[in-house]
Parts: sequence; structure tokens; C-alpha cells
Amino acid sequence: MKIKEAKFLKSSANYEKCPPANLPEVAFIGRSNVGKSSLINMLTGIKNMAKTSSTPGKTQLINHFIVDDKWYLVDLPGYGFAKVPLSEKAKWEKMTWDYLLNRVNLMYVFVLIDMRIPPQKIDLDFVKKLGQSDIPIKIIFTKADKVKTLEGQKNINAFREALTADWAIIPEYFITSAERRTGKVELLGLLGEIFEA
Ligand code: GDP
Repeated sequence: MKIKEAKFLKSSANYEKCPPANLPEVAFIGRSNVGKSSLINMLTGIKNMAKTSSTPGKTQLINHFIVDDKWYLVDLPGYGFAKVPLSEKAKWEKMTWDYLLNRVNLMYVFVLIDMRIPPQKIDLDFVKKLGQSDIPIKIIFTKADKVKTLEGQKNINAFREALTADWAIIPEYFITSAERRTGKVELLGLLGEIFEA
């Protein structure tokens, strides 16, 4: 599919304040700095649509964008900032899981994983919880340009291996680089399957 137009619609402090669930949507999430904003900008072709490198500790909101008047792209706040106080973490936890568990028009959650590093507990725990909650996901490995092919593949294999304990079928995954536009065609193809079927 091609994205012709993507517009920012609304930032919401909680799931109840999100736009009406009258269109299908997919949500993007990952550890802070994983490259989520860069990936969203690559997919939509709009520079700075999602703000890159948001400051740790600043208000965390659920951001809805409307794409071609047909579906919502949702940018969820990242997790895993080292210096965030416990109260902020609890707020993130509640806001995110309320959204993930209750949003009826949510078709898939795209979980972004940095492929430069071996599997991280925080990512595995998050993905496991999605699996246990029966939430459909796709995995997007990021920053492919910044790691040697073999090492990146080793990290991906280790991540997939770690998921076998919880997932009967390992979720489909994509290898991407916002820097080199790797994976753009494949991801747009997937979005086409989801929203044009
Ligand atoms: P977010 O916090 O998950 O939204 O991450 P950002 O998109 O702000 O990216 C965090 C940092 O990683 C920025 O300095 C980006 O320029 C960089 N970055 C993001 N994607 C890529 C990529 O595919 N390749 C490289 N080399 N750097 C990237």
C-alpha cells in the first residue's frame, strides 16, 4: 500500500480519552530510543510526524494519527527509561495496558526491538505479557544498518528462541533500518494486508 496522507489527530492521557474506535488501528511501541519515531516517519514519508527522541520524564501520551482517512496509526510512549521515577512507571504501565487490553479496534501491536543487542529482559517480559493477553503482535527489529549482518541475525535468533517458551507460533518479524529505508516496502505491504483486505 502507499500512504498518501497521514495527519496528527490527538494526544490522549488515557484509553478513555482516545478517539472513537470507529476505524481500525495499529499501535507502535518499544523501549525508548529504539527508533520508533524514525520508523513511523519512514513509513508515512513525513519527516517529524512522530517526534524523535522525546525527553525522558515528559508527559506520556497516546498519540493518534489518521492515515488516508481510513485507519489510525498509534504512537505509544516508550518504556525502559532508566531514570524515570516509580510513580511515572506505574502511570505508564496503567495507561498502556488499559489501552492494549481494552481498545476494541486494535488490530496489531508492532513491538520494536533494537537488533544491535542481545535479547533484553524488559522487551521479552513485555512481549510475553502481550502473548499471555492474546494480543496479536508483529515484531520490528530496528537499526539494521548499525549492526553486522551475522551479529544482528544472532540477536534475532536468540530473541525468537526466548519467545518459544510462551508463543506456540513465533510472531512474524521484520528487519528494518530507518536510516536506509530497509523494510519499508515489506511493512507497507503488511499494512495493506491489514487495512485493505
Ligand atoms: P524513539 O525514542 O524510539 O522514538 O527513537 P528515535 O526514532 O527518536 O531514534 C533514537 C535515535 O536512534 C536517534 O538518534 C535516531 O536518529 C537513531 N535511529 C533511529 N532509527 C535508526 C536507524 O534505523 N539507523 C540508525 N543508524 N539510527 C537510527
